[in-house]
Amino acid sequence: MRLCTTEQVNTACRLCFAKCGIILHLENGKIVKVEGDSDDSKSQGYLCPKGKAIAELVNAPDRLKYPLKRDGNTWKRISWDEALDIIARNLKKIKESYGDQAVLIHMGQAGVAQDIRPFIQRFCNVFRTPNFSSAGSQCHVARVMGNTLTYGCLPIPDHGNAKCIIVWGHNPAASSPLAMRSILKARVKGAKLIVIDPRVTPLARKADMHIQIRPGTDGALALGMLNLIISDDLWDKEFVKEWTIGFDKLGELIQEYPIERVEKITWIPATLVRKVGQLYGTIKPACISLGNALEHHTNAIQSIRAISILQAITGNLDIPGGSIFNQGAPLADISLSRETHLSVNPVGAVEHTLFQEFAHQAQANLLSEAILSSKPYPVKGMIITGANPVLTWPNAEKTRKALKQLEFLVVMDLFMTETAKMAHMVLPATTFLERTELFDHRRNALDGQLELYKKVLSETEECWSDWKFWTELAKKMGYREFFPWNNIEEAFDFQLKPLGISVEQLKKEPSGIIYGDKKYKKYEREGFKTPSGKVEIYSEKLKKFGYDPLPVYKEPDESPVSKPDLAKEYPLVLTTGGRILEYIHSRFRNLTSLHQRVPEPWIEIHTETAKELGVKDGEEVIVESLRGGIGTKAKFTESILPGVVQICHGWSKANANILTDDEACDPISGFPPLRSLLCRVRKKGIDKSC
Ligand code: SF4
Repeated sequence: MRLCTTEQVNTACRLCFAKCGIILHLENGKIVKVEGDSDDSKSQGYLCPKGKAIAELVNAPDRLKYPLKRDGNTWKRISWDEALDIIARNLKKIKESYGDQAVLIHMGQAGVAQDIRPFIQRFCNVFRTPNFSSAGSQCHVARVMGNTLTYGCLPIPDHGNAKCIIVWGHNPAASSPLAMRSILKARVKGAKLIVIDPRVTPLARKADMHIQIRPGTDGALALGMLNLIISDDLWDKEFVKEWTIGFDKLGELIQEYPIERVEKITWIPATLVRKVGQLYGTIKPACISLGNALEHHTNAIQSIRAISILQAITGNLDIPGGSIFNQGAPLADISLSRETHLSVNPVGAVEHTLFQEFAHQAQANLLSEAILSSKPYPVKGMIITGANPVLTWPNAEKTRKALKQLEFLVVMDLFMTETAKMAHMVLPATTFLERTELFDHRRNALDGQLELYKKVLSETEECWSDWKFWTELAKKMGYREFFPWNNIEEAFDFQLKPLGISVEQLKKEPSGIIYGDKKYKKYEREGFKTPSGKVEIYSEKLKKFGYDPLPVYKEPDESPVSKPDLAKEYPLVLTTGGRILEYIHSRFRNLTSLHQRVPEPWIEIHTETAKELGVKDGEEVIVESLRGGIGTKAKFTESILPGVVQICHGWSKANANILTDDEACDPISGFPPLRSLLCRVRKKGIDKSC
């Protein structure tokens, strides 16, 4: 007779950055139930539908469990040893035939620990390929760049102490439920809440003001607000005098953006532009929560810069209730990037030099073109870990074509994704519960908090952690001396050294170790981390790289204004990539509980627009752009601007990225214009209309 062992383990859900506290109920080492941990100070027992589906995810019958090698149209199970032999052989062959740079390693987030990035970069540096790329080519890095160019870091909005909160291009109800809760708490305490979004998001319904903006025109609104704040004398003169450069030049630029002109550009009534400028300019302290939506336009960085300047000239930087500066834990750099000098630049280094200088990686949005054209050089082999480019990169058909052309493609993931299906070899990854992870909570706190999440489950079948895979592959390649750590804890100890703490200490502190500087207005002591030490309204650095030094507004490359002739054929403004609470990008659609909640894709279309098209609610329609077309269901709503349509990405049966563009990217960051394009919608079976 076997005894059943039961156990309860407290840890955190790491399916997104919120890191909600969870209690796992285990029977014989298997999860049988997951609960929210009401003692967790951040989440207080909250779990979103994804968190509730953790057991389903870990125990999913369709998880990849063994290395698989393509055998014609089927897959053959192989051992890890054989898999590593084949990978090492192919990487060496490509290196010899085409050069080090012909191998590219791309890292996403699915099933991949955040802390593993520098470790993979280390592998690339030892291999001597400059071509490491990540999801940072489409997510988050543009916001970091825009803010860092202006004042040296990406600040964290201090909702809890704010009296005015602007939520701009951000739908926290779907993407950051804990941020949603903290914003609503501040609202109950009396903070004014303003939401800027083309859609009526759940937060917009609860806001004091909702500004429905035409996608891609955020920079014009920010310049209009700056104009109003300066002309109404609402700016912080002392701060501007002491801590900024280029304010006089900004004055000349904003003259071009009176509220009446801003109305014409943004479709926001001038009275509302005035009101939002006045509210933000008069209520202090105020913070701005900037979403991913700001990044996906052809003028992304300059719009983000204009918004960061709004926060600076109103004196809201690094004060309670404002935008807090937290640089993160000073971990030792394990990537070897500083020590390695490669003679070849990564893909995208010429087109988006600042992105490369900033992120030290290839710009993934240019990879498909590079693979297909062999320019600037041939890229022939690729390892993709925790990413699904076929569904998440712009211009999906081109991505497919490019991946097909590779001589060798390996994908490591939890499931057989659309991208994995194209690979020569597929490797099974662990979930976050099956490995040890180190996490730096700098996004969520004024003072940073380092936490160690211990492995709580044994690996499923032959699934490997990323750390184990890269270490074992390094050994096979003959790089043992560069990977001296026997386990990930030793590698973490190396990274933790500058902080004077160890993994053993972290193990004794289940709620983490606080590090950092609790002080506000840190710039008064050390200046801003910009070349001038001040807030750079006018950026010499941008000028040096050939960009406008001021936060100028430019119309989206594909819009009814910039391409009126094209708009005759494709008259609707298309925005893609709205978030769904149940899913993250292309993940989790195979989990029954989540699939039942959101079973199929759709296009959000305003009732009036739909009527003009003669389309019925729930009817199958064809959506087309210059790149291609997809079929999906029309969902009528009053919650989107008439003339604008929205499609969520990540669905294989209606891949929104078939419609998106990989060419007219933001010149500074190389981010793709996923949220301001043109399209047409027609009834299925009817040739061309809209
Ligand atoms: Fe997990 Fe959901 Fe919390 Fe994110 S919000 S950590 S997915 S439970």
